[in-house]
Amino acid sequence: MSESDDIRPGEIAVEAPPPDDARLRFIGRCVTPFAERKDCPRQGRLDGPECRLEIFAPWGRALDGIEAFETLDVLYWLDRSRRDLVLQSPKSDGGLRGTFSLRSPVRPNPIGLARVRLVRREGDTLVVRGLDCLNGTPLVDIKPDRCAFSVQAPPKAADRC
Ligand code: SAM
Repeated sequence: MSESDDIRPGEIAVEAPPPDDARLRFIGRCVTPFAERKDCPRQGRLDGPECRLEIFAPWGRALDGIEAFETLDVLYWLDRSRRDLVLQSPKSDGGLRGTFSLRSPVRPNPIGLARVRLVRREGDTLVVRGLDCLNGTPLVDIKPDRCAFSVQAPPKAADRC
């Protein structure tokens, strides 16, 4: 995605229907050194700069146990994206790709996903490396890396086939 909302040659925007009423609760915000889109990496790296996931009240206790995990999946809301493109030209060269074949921030529901390294917990804040989002990006969810996570609940019949 470019650093502006301008449309590129060949890109197609649609008249997006109004959003459904599924509503998110932002659980916190991402504090990063990236003030503008041009400063953000296209994808975060586990050796990237330290960033902070600040969790809002009343969700702080939801972090309990998280220190057991070295890597986490973080979902965030790319709040400064346009949301109406179906075809995009990532290289600005006229070559077109469908939105769902890209990891562009421009999508109908602009959810970003990053795998991050947990550096430490400081109360209701996690210090992590691996984000690629603008400072202040709203936080949607945090989960342990699924490869490192063992299911805690008893197995269901469907788990045994
Ligand atoms: N890692 C996530 C993923 O794969 O789902 C996001 C990848 S997306 C290519 C990352 C880019 O989104 C950044 O380089 C920046 O240009 C843009 N971006 C970051 N934060 C944003 C925000 N809050 N709103 C809109 N665009 C953002």
